[in-house]
Amino acid sequence: MDFSKYVELFYGIAPPIEEWEMRSLHITFAIYKRRVIAGTFNVRKTNPINLRNRKINKEGVDKSHSSFTCSEWRCFREVKRKTNAPFSDITFLNMRMNRNKELCYASPCVGCRSLLAWAEPRAVYFTNNEGKFELYPI
Ligand SMILES: [Zn+2]
Repeated sequence: MDFSKYVELFYGIAPPIEEWEMRSLHITFAIYKRRVIAGTFNVRKTNPINLRNRKINKEGVDKSHSSFTCSEWRCFREVKRKTNAPFSDITFLNMRMNRNKELCYASPCVGCRSLLAWAEPRAVYFTNNEGKFELYPI
């Protein structure tokens, strides 16, 4: 898979750092039949529906009470609301940009992992600490 055009798209649509709602900027793209059908950033808001989905950080701490919504979760919702594309044919790309505008670690959080296990998309890729894409094992 050629990721470069999606990286370019991410840099192209990323708002200026002063407008970021969070410490870093996460994006999730949904790709269906080689087209981007949804692209969502992480936001500093909790969606009431998402409260059912617990948020647990990398250290295993429950962060359900802090107000933010993952880009993955928002992307799933966007796909469900606006398209008929089946998850089994969708590839999700997860990227994160730090404040030096470098790609960095964007593996799905524990909450999103359970969402992925339920949705069974075609594939999920995320950027690792080196800014390279890795296939997420569903
Ligand atoms: Zn998440």
